[in-house]
Amino acid sequence: EKVLWNDQIVTRDSVHISIEDRGYQFGDGIYEVVKVYNGDVFTATEHIDRLYASADKIGMAIPYTKDVLHHLIHQLIEANELGTGIVYLQVTRGHSPRNHAFPNPSVEAVVTGYTRESARPVQDLETGVSVCLVEDVRWLRCDIKSLNLLGNVMAKQQAVEKGCFEAVQHRGDVITEGSSSNAYGIKDGILYTHPVNNLILNGITRQVILDCCKEIGLPVVEKAFTVAQALEMDEFIVSSTGIEVMPVVKIEETQIGDGTPGEWTRKLQTAFEAKLPQQLHV
Ligand code: PLP
Repeated sequence: EKVLWNDQIVTRDSVHISIEDRGYQFGDGIYEVVKVYNGDVFTATEHIDRLYASADKIGMAIPYTKDVLHHLIHQLIEANELGTGIVYLQVTRGHSPRNHAFPNPSVEAVVTGYTRESARPVQDLETGVSVCLVEDVRWLRCDIKSLNLLGNVMAKQQAVEKGCFEAVQHRGDVITEGSSSNAYGIKDGILYTHPVNNLILNGITRQVILDCCKEIGLPVVEKAFTVAQALEMDEFIVSSTGIEVMPVVKIEETQIGDGTPGEWTRKLQTAFEAKLPQQLHV
């Protein structure tokens, strides 16, 4: 298995990460997960742009250009003969003697990346999933795709312990997003989703879904909705790079619609799949 280490494609065993890497000690870094369908990357440019934007927001420089990173991702996919799966990329602020403040003078960022085969969640996409509701206790810069995922980790664990697919978070009454997904409700032929601000990650899948809404004639209102409103939605969706347009058919003990994926959700799934590279063989 080959991995990315800084600007090199090397064997996994040859990577050395310092125990004083700031990603390891402080979660001081950022990451991306890019989906690959039959060897073709999907929305790679958007993910790379977001990685650089996240780096910018935390005052960190990625030590090469977007074009070089694009090329390295392709090399990694080829080296591992990845079919359908993901590329994980992370960049930390580098390693230096432990101290909260940024290293001064600055040190080189540490880039790592690897691939993993993973099938599309075809069964769940067909039947829909259940979610639980969890208080959103994360920090106020959820727009940064940061390595600090403890809030997300704790939320997802609650979902797992309740036998749910995902934890949908709410800050007070307001639904923000899933532990690793964006959330949407459809009511009376309108799709509602939290606006893009510091309280959510602007998902790449979210952006593709909003394009799909235009294509299928589903009006979008980017306005936060409450927990009570969520339970009354005709249809509900969570989305991410890995789970695509995932129908939610149960929130806590409340069935959504008739307990099967609704018509708009089906149309969105079809429009989304039409954008994916090549055939959809798992
Ligand atoms: N929100 C959070 C907190 C996430 O971690 C993710 C992805 O893992 C998303 C939303 C969805 O983002 P994307 O569609 O770019 O995968």
